[in-house]
Order: sequence, then structure tokens, then C-alpha cells
Amino acid sequence: MNWDIKDIKDWDWRKHPRGGLIRDAGNAKKFKTGGWRSARPLWDEEKCVQCLICHIFCPDCSIKTKDEKMTGIDYDFCKGCGICAYECPHDAITMIDEAEARKKEEAEEGRA
Ligand code: SF4
Ligand code: SF4
Repeated sequence: MNWDIKDIKDWDWRKHPRGGLIRDAGNAKKFKTGGWRSARPLWDEEKCVQCLICHIFCPDCSIKTKDEKMTGIDYDFCKGCGICAYECPHDAITMIDEAEARKKEEAEEGRA
């Protein structure tokens, strides 16, 4: 589920149900919390030595792995905290501006 913020300019607390309610166990995976991100981690596979320190430190389990190796970053859930980039001992992850990254992607896809 993505956050719908179309009415943000007319926002009024009376129009929305109270937040912070957990109605069903395990429902966090339905919310793509990556939508909050203002910075995006970029992984450089060439520099990566597969130590998986980033995987241990990521608070959102957003470092993807397969067969005990890092395979990428799950942008659906990564909140862009930058901990992985800070902890990586080989500078294999760098943080970039999310808005700029999205603009570039849209231009490449011809949506801008
Ligand atoms: S911490 Fe850095 S070197 Fe280690 S697996 Fe993650 S990206 Fe690769
Ligand atoms: S920026 Fe934060 S949430 Fe995203 S992959 Fe790195 S440690 Fe995880």
C-alpha cells in the first residue's frame, strides 16, 4: 500500500481516522514505507565484499540477500536512514537525494 497524500493541502484532523492503530498482526508488510524516503542508498556491487554488515545493521530488513550474499536494496521498504552507508567498511553504499533520483528515473522513462 502506498500513502495517499493528495489532500495534504486541505488536511484536517477531523477528516482522518486516528493513526497508529495496528488492527492485524503482521500487516506492516502491506505498507510500502519506502515512500517516506528522502535519501536513497545506492549499492556498488563492484566495491562490495559481501561482508553483510549492512544487512545486520539495517533497521528495516531492506538489504536483500540470496544464498548468504547481498543482491540489492528493497526500495519498497528502505526508509533512507543511511545506516548501511555509514556502516559499510568498503564505501560500497552511497546516499543520494531521493527527489533527484526519481526525477532522473522519470526523465529516463520519458515521464518527465
Ligand atoms: S556492508 Fe558494504 S561491503 Fe558489506 S555487504 Fe554491505 S555493501 Fe557489501
Ligand atoms: S538506508 Fe537504512 S533502511 Fe535503507 S537499506 Fe540502508 S540501513 Fe536499511
